[in-house]
Amino acid sequence: MYDAIVVGARCAGAPTALLLARKGYKVLLLDRGTFPSDMPFSNHYVHQTGSARLKRWGLLDALKATNCPPILTNHWDYGVFTLTGSPVPAENGVKEAFAPRRLKLDPVLVEGAVKAGAELREGFSVQEILWDKDHVVGIRGHQKNGGTVTERARITIGADGMFSKVAQAVNAPAYKSGPALEGSWYAYYSGVPMIGWHLWLRPDRVIFAYNTNDNLSLIGVAFAAKDLAMARSNIEKHHSATIQEHAPELWERMQQGKRESRYVGGAIPYHVRKPYGPGWALVGDAGYQKDPCTASGITDAFGSAEWLAEAIDAGFSGREPLEQALAKYEQTRNDTELPYYELTTQLAALAPPPPEVAQLLEALRYSDEQRSRFFGVLAHTVPVTEFFSLENIQKIMGKQQATVS
Ligand SMILES: Cc1cc2nc3c(=O)[nH]c(=O)nc-3n(C[C@H](O)[C@H](O)[C@H](O)COP(=O)(O)OP(=O)(O)OC[C@H]3O[C@@H](n4cnc5c(N)ncnc54)[C@H](O)[C@@H]3O)c2cc1C
Repeated sequence: MYDAIVVGARCAGAPTALLLARKGYKVLLLDRGTFPSDMPFSNHYVHQTGSARLKRWGLLDALKATNCPPILTNHWDYGVFTLTGSPVPAENGVKEAFAPRRLKLDPVLVEGAVKAGAELREGFSVQEILWDKDHVVGIRGHQKNGGTVTERARITIGADGMFSKVAQAVNAPAYKSGPALEGSWYAYYSGVPMIGWHLWLRPDRVIFAYNTNDNLSLIGVAFAAKDLAMARSNIEKHHSATIQEHAPELWERMQQGKRESRYVGGAIPYHVRKPYGPGWALVGDAGYQKDPCTASGITDAFGSAEWLAEAIDAGFSGREPLEQALAKYEQTRNDTELPYYELTTQLAALAPPPPEVAQLLEALRYSDEQRSRFFGVLAHTVPVTEFFSLENIQKIMGKQQATVS
């Protein structure tokens, strides 16, 4: 009998297992995959807040040791002007974002969990959730080519990604959901080093680029939902044409470099689910998945792992009733993430900014501090509601008038 079974051992599952094991709980961490392995459709930008969490867990040095270069600046080209700057740092002054290949990041997380004392079973596929009346009591599954195994725990945690079997089995209610709003495809290039996180934001499309491990750069293009079928029909052609037209300086540099991978990507739906019930909890994409346009799923998975581990410890240790602690987990996740989720959903339409937003963006050119706070919104170091408050918007617009008059 385990205290916790965690199904899925990547960005959400491995940190949840690590944090629970460090608190002394007996944790079984399961994944049908093996490590190291890549996540073929996911980009992998980790915001400053994610780096700060890795630092707090003692894993940031291990990530840096994978030779993943830090990303310190944002360069967002809106066509008529470019906003350049760095986000407000995260806690402990952490200024660096990273974009590690999942091939490199996920093993750091999994090894951290194992070192903390979690029992890892790779190549183990969970087939079924076990019930005692209306209470989840464990899982049934099997190792690749192995016989069926039953394992029991006080809590079974679905960290099994966007198509979570655990979420389906418990019928976790979704209180927000929707179809894909955009899709993106990317490839890795050598010989095209970037300085920072580059976006070329154009109506119905965004070009994005940043450095990752092994002296490679990730360069991709996102297309609005209405253009997905057209883009999907010939990704290479549409990538090339889009970059050539909207980011000619990047296109020119790409002619000196080399594409080192095939194009990968896709379009994903989004949801926010109730993340707990009797004997079960959800963490990461299993509970909360938004459009990837704000590149935040990994950073958010880290956050929800911390809040969930804290809640389970509060409940198991008797500091407060488990159900109450898990309700707080849901509340904290929603209070922190839902404004970001709404912002992401708006941005994912890839529509031209409405006039008042265009004015705000224009005004940000004149204030280093507010630009840094704007980038901080995306990095989760400045709350969405604080930055877009009437008071702050008036401050930004007033400052612009003072600067240009
Ligand atoms: C196109 C695209 C671009 C993205 N770009 C970014 C980005 O730049 N930055 C960012 O932060 N996020 C990005 N994301 C989102 C990010 O990939 C996810 O938010 C993140 O992977 C969520 O982590 P997770 O641990 O919840 O789930 P996952 O990483 O999906 O891990 C789930 C694990 O569960 C295992 N599993 C599933 N079912 C079972 C089962 N039945 N039995 C055993 N194991 C099981 C799987 O093998 C897998 O290892 C992007 C996503 C997409 C699709």
